[in-house]
Amino acid sequence: MQAARRLRLSASFQGRRRRPCTRGGPFLCTAAAHIPNRLTESAVLPYHASYGATATAAAAGTAAPLAAAAPARSTPQALAAAAAAAASPAGAVAPRPALLPPPGPSGVLVAYYADHWRVPLPPGHRFPMEKYAATHGSLEADPSLEGLVQLRAAPPVDFEDVTLVHEPAYVERFRCNHMTEPEMRNVGFPWSEQLVGRTFASCGGTVAAMHVVMQRHQQQGGGAIAGNIAGGTHHAFRDRGEGFCVFNDIAVAANVAMRDYGLDSILVVDLDVHQGNGTADIFQNDPRVTTFDMFGDKNYPWKTRRTNTYDVPLRDETGDEEYLALLRSWLPRLLRDHRPQLILFQAGVDALRGDSFGRLGMSRSGLLARNNLVYGTALEAGVPLVITMGGGYTRPMDASVSCHTDVYRTAAYRLAAWARSTPRGQD
Ligand SMILES: [Zn+2]
Repeated sequence: MQAARRLRLSASFQGRRRRPCTRGGPFLCTAAAHIPNRLTESAVLPYHASYGATATAAAAGTAAPLAAAAPARSTPQALAAAAAAAASPAGAVAPRPALLPPPGPSGVLVAYYADHWRVPLPPGHRFPMEKYAATHGSLEADPSLEGLVQLRAAPPVDFEDVTLVHEPAYVERFRCNHMTEPEMRNVGFPWSEQLVGRTFASCGGTVAAMHVVMQRHQQQGGGAIAGNIAGGTHHAFRDRGEGFCVFNDIAVAANVAMRDYGLDSILVVDLDVHQGNGTADIFQNDPRVTTFDMFGDKNYPWKTRRTNTYDVPLRDETGDEEYLALLRSWLPRLLRDHRPQLILFQAGVDALRGDSFGRLGMSRSGLLARNNLVYGTALEAGVPLVITMGGGYTRPMDASVSCHTDVYRTAAYRLAAWARSTPRGQD
């Protein structure tokens, strides 16, 4: 009966303009009261319920690095524990310990995934949603990564974290299916319960990966790398989404890092073929965050392009040699001039030759060299780094998936080699 009611309500909200939600204030729904009408319990996890459950599951994973943690569930016990932790006194620069994910073993790449949420898309939709599960699967199946990677289900981002960047009304309108049709058209996905779940997890994975590297850095010193096999949604603005992006996970993770760890210098290295216009816009007046962006000059975004701290627009068919020479010259300069305490890497692979959208004509080995340059620079400088996935749109998707997999595999190899060379994890 209840399931039938949910289905009927979901169906009734398809394809027409949403009216503003007035429960709990203008546009602001109170989750407990409102979710059962629109969303199945399993589809949208309440805020604050995630890290404790994920931490418990993932802590056991230290002995079996490739064992995936179960998706976080919203049990009343988890909610109560999280609420108690959130209510406990905390300093201005003090992450809530009970909610933090464990840093994982030294030299092991912790990578979050969000493909436990399967988003239904209409037939022929141009976004390759399956690439996330495919990349996750190829990492899991790679015997060379045995003991080098710990895969974890991404927790949903907390409301108080995501609203450090995004307008609360925007977050709630998206969550409760109150976005207008033009808004959803700009995002590029049809609204669904699974899209909400995946979007919160995609953002939460980057925030969790940030906590992993910051904790590891605080405990052991030196370099640290963790990743999100999702995210890099750099076209999301504070109050709107576009280009397949709803929340800007990079901006959210940066803001959480500044709040929880007191950082005052964060570097965003955005190497997706598209300009990270949302990230640039969000940080345009924040001197604590430096945004460096190499992108195809003739690629989207055209009308909504913004100004980064450093923009490096590239001509069509730039190719490996010129691209790598530019990156090689920029990275040391960025580290020298800004002394970042954290690097957030948007590792999109849509600069690959043959990408449906990209135009830079890079090879797979060129992208591998790109990844190595970024990781080597961060590890040598002892700066924690978080990988986000970004774009990759070859058809079929296999070439993009191979390049996405390279991004995480290379990081795992580099991190393991670095740990071996500094046995106590210190530099
Ligand atoms: Zn892209």
